[in-house]
Formats: sequence, C-alpha cells, structure tokens
Amino acid sequence: MTESRYRGRFAPSPTGPLHFGSLVTAVASFLEARSRGGTWLVRIEDLDPLRESPEATQQILASLEAHGLHSDEPVRFQSERHPHYQKLVDQLLAQRLAYRCACSRKQLREHGGRHPERCREGHADPGERPFAVRFALHDEHSEWHDQLLGPQTQQVQAELDDPVILRKEGFYAYQLAVVADDIDQGITHVVRGSDLLDMTAQQQQIYHALGARPPHWMHIPVILNAEGQKLSKQNHAPALNDRIAKQNLEQALAALGQDLSSLSGAADIDTLLDRAAANWAPERIHLTVR
Ligand code: GLU
Repeated sequence: MTESRYRGRFAPSPTGPLHFGSLVTAVASFLEARSRGGTWLVRIEDLDPLRESPEATQQILASLEAHGLHSDEPVRFQSERHPHYQKLVDQLLAQRLAYRCACSRKQLREHGGRHPERCREGHADPGERPFAVRFALHDEHSEWHDQLLGPQTQQVQAELDDPVILRKEGFYAYQLAVVADDIDQGITHVVRGSDLLDMTAQQQQIYHALGARPPHWMHIPVILNAEGQKLSKQNHAPALNDRIAKQNLEQALAALGQDLSSLSGAADIDTLLDRAAANWAPERIHLTVR
C-alpha cells in the first residue's frame, strides 16, 4: 500500500499562552513534517469556553508566527466544527458505539467505575437529567508502535475507561474532536507530548469506529520544571517572550537533543529552522526526560 503524503499538525488547547514545553512539541512536530517534505498544520482545540479564552488563542497564534512556525493551510478552530462533531455523536449513538450516561462522578466512584444504571446496555433513561455521551470501548490488549518510544502495550478496559465524547455541559470533548479533525484533515503523522501517550489506544478505537486508519504516532517527552513537574499553565509555566524567538528556538532544539553546531551563524529564524530541519535527528531526543 502506498503511504499518503505526510501531513502533520500542532493542536494546542488555548488554556494559556504558549510556554516553553509547548514550543518544544510544536518545534518537534514542525521539523518532523519539514524534514519529510510534508505539510504542517496548526489547529486550535478550543472546545471548552470555561477553561479557554480567545486571548490565549490570539497569544498562541502570535507566538507561533513570531517563532517562524507557520501553518501551511488556514488555521482550523474546533469551536467552528460543532455540527460535524454532533453528526459523529449521532452516528456513534445510532451504531450503539456510544451511549448516554447521566451517572455522576460520585456514583461512578462509589461503584468502582461501573455504571450503576447500566447506561452502556441502554437501560438508563436519562430523561430530563443532564447526560454525557460516552464512547463504548472494547476490552483490548493494544500493541502499537511509537516512532520514537518504540513498541507500546496498553490495556483498554471497557466501561471503566469509556471516554466522554459529549460533556453534560453540552461541550464536545477532546477525545472525539481530536480524532474527528485528524481524520477530516487527513493527518498521517501525529507528533505530540508524551502526556497523551495513555490516550492513544483509546483513540485508535475511535478511529476504527469512525471507519478510519489511525495515524503514525510519535510522542515527545514532556519538559519538566526544576521541581520535576510538567511545564503547564497549572504549574505556572511562564509565557514565551516572543521578542527573543531565536533564543527560544535554540533552547527548544537543545531540549530536543539536536546538534546546535549545525545551526551556528543562522542569521534569522527562517534560516535557523531550515537548518534544523535539514539536520533533524529525532533519535537524539533524550528519552529519560519523560
Ligand atoms: N489539544 C491537546 C492539548 O493541548 C493536544 C491534542 C493532541 O495533540 O492530540 O493537550
């Protein structure tokens, strides 16, 4: 079978401005796409207006531009994709691959993750109560290959792990939207942070349920702060200073274990990124940083 042309993406959730950890992931996915002569897209995963803001979206987009990380196609916003997600929710419900669930977190906790109302079998009638829609996973010992981390095994537990795809508050959930758009945008290779590694087997089941083949995966070790915590907005990771973009890029490449000597003398960020792509060696990424 011929492999379709490489299409990669960077898909941040706008919970805050771009920080160094997210820059490292963006640079890795950009260079992997560039070095393979592929297309690289930016997609804003703005699904949760309670946790995300339009300011953060604008800050992220401005920061990516300042760092020379330009999307090859117009930026996609998940907030504009609701009708498509609803269509998929309806389709999965009709196929009985998803179910309505009015169980509270407390109820689920008290029942060891099982649904007291047997929602999965369609016994529960949510009636007027707010309900979530969950994807019905099947038990699986999943084995797959990560292009950086090598062979992976994951145990998927039906019912216990069933992800929410439409939240009780009415918001479409990450697990559905990320797969829906990766399929719709023809993404062939996903490069993302290893904090999402555990989601992969579940997401592969959603790909299959939607009649698509999962992409190739590459998970990049997340960058930790001095206290050993993931750099994130929750841990108060500072926003990138866009005025020192070249310096930030050099630091990101150093964090990715790349050979900086090949970059010396690059006068501007575009030259720097071109050289970094020509010399991109993902096998140099230090896996111990996980
Ligand atoms: N939007 C997700 C995040 O910011 C990333 C999605 C993905 O790369 O699969 O954590």
